[in-house]
Amino acid sequence: MDRRNFTGKMALGASGALMAPHLSWACAPNGNTAQRKLGVALVGLGSYSTYQLAPALEQTQWCRLAGIVTGTPSKAAKWREQYGIDPSHIYNYENFDAIAQDDSIDIVYVVLPNSMHAEFAIRAAKAGKHVICEKPMAVSVAECDAIIAACETAGVKLSVGYRLQSEPYTREIKRLVREKTFGDVLFISADAAYVSRGNPDQWRLNRELSGGGALLNMGVYSIQSCIYSCGKNPIGVSAQEFSTRPEYFKDTDETITAQFTFPGGVVGQMMTSHNANANRLYGSCTSGWFELQPANNYGPLSGRTSEGPIEFPHESQQKLQMDDFARHILEGTPNRAPGEMGRRDMVIVEAIYRSIREGGRQIALDLPEGYGILQE
Ligand code: NAD
Repeated sequence: MDRRNFTGKMALGASGALMAPHLSWACAPNGNTAQRKLGVALVGLGSYSTYQLAPALEQTQWCRLAGIVTGTPSKAAKWREQYGIDPSHIYNYENFDAIAQDDSIDIVYVVLPNSMHAEFAIRAAKAGKHVICEKPMAVSVAECDAIIAACETAGVKLSVGYRLQSEPYTREIKRLVREKTFGDVLFISADAAYVSRGNPDQWRLNRELSGGGALLNMGVYSIQSCIYSCGKNPIGVSAQEFSTRPEYFKDTDETITAQFTFPGGVVGQMMTSHNANANRLYGSCTSGWFELQPANNYGPLSGRTSEGPIEFPHESQQKLQMDDFARHILEGTPNRAPGEMGRRDMVIVEAIYRSIREGGRQIALDLPEGYGILQE
C-alpha cells in the first residue's frame, strides 16, 4: 500500500483520531504515518520491565519494544543483544530528552520507582511522546495534575499501567455491574496484599522513593476493585493503619484498612498489606453475588458468581494493556486507564492517609463521575 492509497483509506473517527485500516500502519504523535507498529521505549529496566513488559511486547499486535532508558550500561548491553535494540534507541536518564528526535519511539512507558514517575512522564510529554505511567501514577495529586497538564500541552495521550482494566475477568465484573445482572450492588470487599520479607533498604520501603507503603503498591488495586465493582466513585472514606513488624516497616505503611461509602448507601471495604497474603474481590448484589480470587495478580485469574464459574482463556495482561493503549492512539478506541483515573485514585490515597492521621475520621470525597468506570 503506498502513502496515497493509505491516506485515501483512512477515516476520521468520532474523536478526530485517524482510523488505521491496517495493523502495520501507525500514526506517530507528530502526525507522521509510518509502516510499522507503534514503538515503545521502557524507562527503567527493573523486574516489571524485565519479566512482564518486555516479553509482553513480543506478543503485541499494535506496538513493539523499540527503545530502552536505563542508568545501568550492563543492562543496556544485555537488552541490546536480547531484543535487537539498535544503540541509537538506547538512552540513559541524563540524555533521555534526546528521545524527542527519535522517530522510532511513539510511546514512553515509565517503569521507575513511584517518586520518579512525574519527572519522566513530563519529560516524555515534552519530547512529544505518548505516555504510560506505571501505577501508582505518581506520589501526590499535585504530581498527577502536572503530568496531565504536560500531556495536554504536548497533545499526547496519557495512560496508567492498570493492566487489569484490559483483563477479561475484570472486564466481566464490569459488565455484570453495568448490566445489573444480579441487580444493584450493595456491598463490596476488596483485598490486595502480599508478605514483604526482602531487603529492608528496597525502594518500596523508602517513603521518599515510594510515596508510601502497601497503599501505594497493592492498595491502588483494592481502590480500583471497589470502584469498578460498585460502578461509581465513592463519596467518603475512613481508614485505619496497623503494624506488627514496625522494625521492618520503619518508613512506610504495613497494613491499611479502609471503608468507602458510595451514593445510595452502598458500602465498600478494602484491606492492603505488605505483611499478609490476600488477593480477592467480592460483591454482594440484590439478587446474587460475584467473586474473583485471585483478583489482582498476573493471571490466570479465577472467578465465580452465584450462578456458576466465570471462565476465560488466559492471555498476557500486559499484552492486552499495551495493545489497548496503542489502539487508543491509532483508532481512538476508549482509553481504558486514562490519567484522570490515576489522579482520582491518588485523591483517594491522600484521603485515606488523612483519615488515618485524623484518627479514622470520615473524609468526604468530591469526585466527578467518569473516567470510564464501567466502560466496555
Ligand atoms: P524494580 O525495583 O524491580 O525496578 C526499578 C527500576 O528503577 C530499576 O531498573 C532501577 O535500576 C531503576 N531505578 C532508577 N533510579 C532508581 C532509584 N533511585 N532507586 C531504585 N531504583 C531506581 O521495581 P519494579 O517492580 O519494576 O517497579 C517499577 C514500577 O512499576 C513501580 O512504579 C511499580 O509500582 C510498578 N509495577 C507495576 C506492576 C503492575 O502489575 N502494574 C508490577 C510491578 C511493578
